[in-house]
Amino acid sequence: MKVLKFGGTSVGSVENMHNVKNIISDGDKKVVVLSAMSGTTNHLVAIAQAIELGNPSDAIDKINNLHETYFKTIDSLLTDAHLIVDVKNYVSSVFEFLLECTNKSCSKTLENKILAQGELLSTYIFNSFLKQEGISATLLPALDFMRTDAFNEPDIDSIKVNLERLISDGKGSEIYITQGFICLDDEGQISNLQRGGSDYTATIIGAAIKAEEVQIWTDIDGMHNNDPRYVENTSAISNLSFEEAAELAYFGAKILHPQTVTPVRKDSIPVRLKNTMKPEAHGTLISKSTSENGIKAIAAKDNITAIKIKSARMLQAHGFLKKVFEIFETYQTSIDMITTSEVAVSLTIDDDKNLESIITELEKIALIEVDTNQSIVCLVGHSVVNHQDTYKLFQILQDVKIRMISYGGSKNNISLLIDSKDKINTLQKLNDYLFELVTL
Ligand code: ASP
Repeated sequence: MKVLKFGGTSVGSVENMHNVKNIISDGDKKVVVLSAMSGTTNHLVAIAQAIELGNPSDAIDKINNLHETYFKTIDSLLTDAHLIVDVKNYVSSVFEFLLECTNKSCSKTLENKILAQGELLSTYIFNSFLKQEGISATLLPALDFMRTDAFNEPDIDSIKVNLERLISDGKGSEIYITQGFICLDDEGQISNLQRGGSDYTATIIGAAIKAEEVQIWTDIDGMHNNDPRYVENTSAISNLSFEEAAELAYFGAKILHPQTVTPVRKDSIPVRLKNTMKPEAHGTLISKSTSENGIKAIAAKDNITAIKIKSARMLQAHGFLKKVFEIFETYQTSIDMITTSEVAVSLTIDDDKNLESIITELEKIALIEVDTNQSIVCLVGHSVVNHQDTYKLFQILQDVKIRMISYGGSKNNISLLIDSKDKINTLQKLNDYLFELVTL
C-alpha cells in the first residue's frame, strides 16, 4: 500500500482537484492525505488572532469571506445537486462553529480546534467530489487514530493499532482519504503537527502501515538544489539520501516539514516528491541509497539568533559548557549551530521565546552578546566535507561576512551563519559557482 499526500495547492483549485483524482485513480490501494485548501490555514490563523485580540467583528468578517469562497469552489467543482446540498450543509456547519468561537476567549485548545477545520473541510469536499466522479473512497477521520504522546511525538503504537482497525473496517476500499496536520494530544485534545505538518502525517502513516512508498505531491517538481523563491536557475534534485533530505528539511528547504523523513528512515521506506501539475516529471526520490559525493543542495533558514558566551574562566576550565547547555535545557530551547574557542562559545537558536530568561541565566556565568536577524545557510551533500571541490566554497565566500561556520559536525553538512540581509546574494553566488553556472 502507498501513502500519497497532496498539499494545499493540489486541492486548492478545481483544476488541481481533477489532477489529484487522475493521479489516485490507478486502481492501486492507497491512503490519501490531504492538506487544507491553499490559504485556508493562514486564514484560520488570522481568525484565531482576531478572536485573541478581542476583535470579534474582524473575525466574523474573515469567517464570512472564507465561507463565501468555499461556496464558490463547491459551485464550480460539483454538479450533482444532492451532493451540492450535502456539502454546503457540512461547510455551513463548520462556519457556524467558527462563528460560535468568536464569543469565546481564545485558549490554545480553541485555537487548535479552529486550525483543524481546514483539513476537515478539504477532505469532506474532496471525498464528495470523488463520489460524484464514481470513485469509491473511505474517509478515515485522522482524529480517530493520529495521536501524539506527552513529548509531542507521534504515538506510533496507538496509531498503528487504530489505523489497522479502521483500514480493515473499510474492507474492499481502494482509496482511504484522511486529514493531514491534525491529531489528538496525549490528553485527547485536538492538536496539530505544526504548520506544514501534513507531510509528517503522511510519513507517520507510512511507518505505521509499513507502506511500500510515501509520495508527497506539491506544486514544484521535487526538492530544488537552491531556494527557487530567491535564486535564479535552480533545478530539481533527482535523488537524496534520508540524511541529506533531513538536513535540507531542517535547515530551511520549505518543501518539506522538518520532521518528514524521521518516521520512515528506520524502515527505509522511500519518499518521493512529485508535482501534481506535472505528474510525468521525475521529482525527487529520497531513499537509503546515496549517490555521488559533493555539494548537492543549498538551503537557508531565517530568524536565527546568535548568542556569544564569553568567559575568562572558560580558559582550561571544565564543566563550563555543561552549565551553558543546562540553561538551554531548562528553557527547552534547542541549539542548532555551535562553535567554540578557548574563551568563548557561539551558538544559535531559532526559537527565541525564552531568550530573555536564557540571557539572564547566562549573564550569571559569562559575558553575553546577542545578534538577531541571522540566517543559517546550509550546504548539503553526501560526504560534502571530503569532496575535492569544497575548497571553492571559501574562495566564493571571500566577500561574505560569515559570523559562524560549522564544518565537520556531519559529513553531509557545512553550515554558515550570516546576516539575513546578505542571504539572497550569498545563495545566488553559491548557486552560480558551486553548480558551475559560472566558473571561478
Ligand atoms: N494546513 C496546514 C498548514 O497550512 C498543514 C499543511 O498544509 O501541511 O500549515
